[in-house]
Amino acid sequence: MANEKIPYKVYLEEHEMPKAWYNVRADMKKKPAPLLNPGTLEPMTAEELGVVFCEDLVQQELDNDTAYFEIPEEIREFYKMYRPSPLVRAYCLEKKLGTPAKIYYKFEGNNTSGSHKLNSAIAQAYYAKKQGLKGVTTETGAGQWGTALSMACAYLDLDCKVYMVKVSYEQKPFRREVMRTYGASVTPSPSDTTEIGKKILAEHPGTNGSLGCAISEAVEVAVSNPGYRYVLGSVLNQVLLHQSVIGLEAKAAFDKIGVKPDMIIGCAGGGSNLGGLISPFMGEKLRGENDYEIIAVEPASCPSFTRGVYAYDFCDTGMVCPLAKMYTLGSDFIPSPNHAGGLRYHGMSPVLSELYDQGLIKATSVEQTAVFEAAEQFARCEGILPAPESSHAIRVAIDEALKCKETGEEKTILFGLTGTGYFDLYAYQKFNDGQMDDYIPTDEELAKYREKLPKVDK
Ligand SMILES: *Cc1c(COP(=O)(O)O)cnc(C)c1O
Repeated sequence: MANEKIPYKVYLEEHEMPKAWYNVRADMKKKPAPLLNPGTLEPMTAEELGVVFCEDLVQQELDNDTAYFEIPEEIREFYKMYRPSPLVRAYCLEKKLGTPAKIYYKFEGNNTSGSHKLNSAIAQAYYAKKQGLKGVTTETGAGQWGTALSMACAYLDLDCKVYMVKVSYEQKPFRREVMRTYGASVTPSPSDTTEIGKKILAEHPGTNGSLGCAISEAVEVAVSNPGYRYVLGSVLNQVLLHQSVIGLEAKAAFDKIGVKPDMIIGCAGGGSNLGGLISPFMGEKLRGENDYEIIAVEPASCPSFTRGVYAYDFCDTGMVCPLAKMYTLGSDFIPSPNHAGGLRYHGMSPVLSELYDQGLIKATSVEQTAVFEAAEQFARCEGILPAPESSHAIRVAIDEALKCKETGEEKTILFGLTGTGYFDLYAYQKFNDGQMDDYIPTDEELAKYREKLPKVDK
């Protein structure tokens, strides 16, 4: 078999690792819509954004034209501690499925944060340090981003204040302790440490919190404490830029073995791993050099792409952040409490939203029991216990491989295995006990949130 020439794992040498991030916006003819000032509805200026975000990151956020940004030496040194991440050929899974498809995954879970989030955390912390700041604030849901940021801040000697969605704070005490071990302070959100937190607590006593609410608190703390800025782990253009390291490495590894993927699949919460994974491939597609079928996978209980609308919306519950044009379910939307699989954000990266709107990527949604079935199947043959988020991509990769079994097509499928699931064992327990159920919001429910979208004529 020709296949046997391809090793299980394709690694890059250190000197083959990317030296610049790739900005896919540079190759988009129609650019993603700008962030708007919620007061004036005019595009946010660098000066306005600089109140909340670090200087260099603001430049990256606003730059739709520069194709490559050099990765600073210090960040590259940090990357070398846990990168390059392997591109793995899922021979065992292929065999188990009996498919002629060739399945590859890019595994980002080989660091303590257990996810790809460290790729952007170290970049954002680096620019904060470069600016001479004392520290950064952020929110975290499941905890991967908070962990990644605390690791990066510990490395660069920055203070790190994390607002953790209350339900996760209580359900994932181990994540919390990892963050504290790295020196971060972790506050359950909503809290009484901020004005917006107090307001939300007064309006919704006993609330479990949400990402949107934790973002509002973290932003408030950043703008009211000198020497602090806010950093965000997904959604923003700058985060997709940093995450392009995933796709650039994957592309280089494929080039090394002379293989071209036909199909690229990734889970989509705020869109950062998928955006990063597809970047260089999408660049080729936009320039007309190559074609790839790209599929974003989201939970049926939080279906921003497949059932949301493309409109300007608030990024947070407190409405303190700029407005972003994105596929959204409405900033008040919170997925049902029985949803265990992550990817809970109400909106989606403006870059991916624009690509989706132009028909350059597809999207599909999957139910969580089917996601955990795929996770179990994958764990049993490939050895890695996947994060529930990543397992959305596994589900669709398996389904596509099974389609190939029917048609006899030998498609090459690449999916993003964003992380490990060691801190998601309550969710696995529910699944193993047969107590996991699926919740799909009704059209009426979704309409209720949609009505509250800000009226922006842009
Ligand atoms: C955060 C996270 C995601 C989803 O975020 P994106 O910005 O959509 O990539 C997916 N997988 C893991 C393991 C994560 O930690």
